Amino acid sequence: MKIQEVKFLKSITENEEDIFPLIDKNKKYQILFLGRSNVGKSSVISSLLGKKDLAHSSAKAGKTKTINIFEVNKDFQCLDFPGYGFARGNKENKDKLRDIILNYLQSNVSKNLKAVIILDAFVGPTVLDKEVFDYIDEKGTQILLILNKVDKVKRQELEKTILKVKEYFGNTKYIFYSCKTNNYREDSLKLVFER
Ligand code: GDP
Repeated sequence: MKIQEVKFLKSITENEEDIFPLIDKNKKYQILFLGRSNVGKSSVISSLLGKKDLAHSSAKAGKTKTINIFEVNKDFQCLDFPGYGFARGNKENKDKLRDIILNYLQSNVSKNLKAVIILDAFVGPTVLDKEVFDYIDEKGTQILLILNKVDKVKRQELEKTILKVKEYFGNTKYIFYSCKTNNYREDSLKLVFER
């Protein structure tokens, strides 16, 4: 898959009222990007799409939680969700994000979508990642895992991470990634954008 055109559409706030009209109008194949804060979600999106600062600006400014939406090659809509686990242990924030995602999945009648969960290969999957995975998986949504920052991980450690990924997520498809070396970019593009 070659990235020909990336167009930033808009940022929407986390209020569901803002999300619903967008869903009604949208008939394109959608890719949801999710991940814990600091796993490198913004970096992965920029690296994959070959565009700098696509996802960064609004995500960091004043820590406003927004969903950034951009169109890729006219056929795909990418939705960059707020990073989760920002305020550690803050139940209210956690529940809020869960509600946003669940509302979103529930109302997307077309089911023309895939969720890409980005994990930190150095840290390994966390309980929070598993929680988010579970409520997306429950909805029957297709999921792809990207293990980012693989450049930081020694081979032996990586094997442990893989075991944990299998324990947490079963046979869900996963791929490594490194924004530093851009390794695995071609293969990742293929998996992210295959329907
Ligand atoms: P986000 O909060 O998930 O959007 O994370 P960012 O994209 O802001 O990245 C968080 C930090 O991780 C930054 O300091 C990045 O430079 C770093 N980072 C992101 N991807 C990689 C990677 O593949 N390898 C390494 N070594 N660092 C990375």
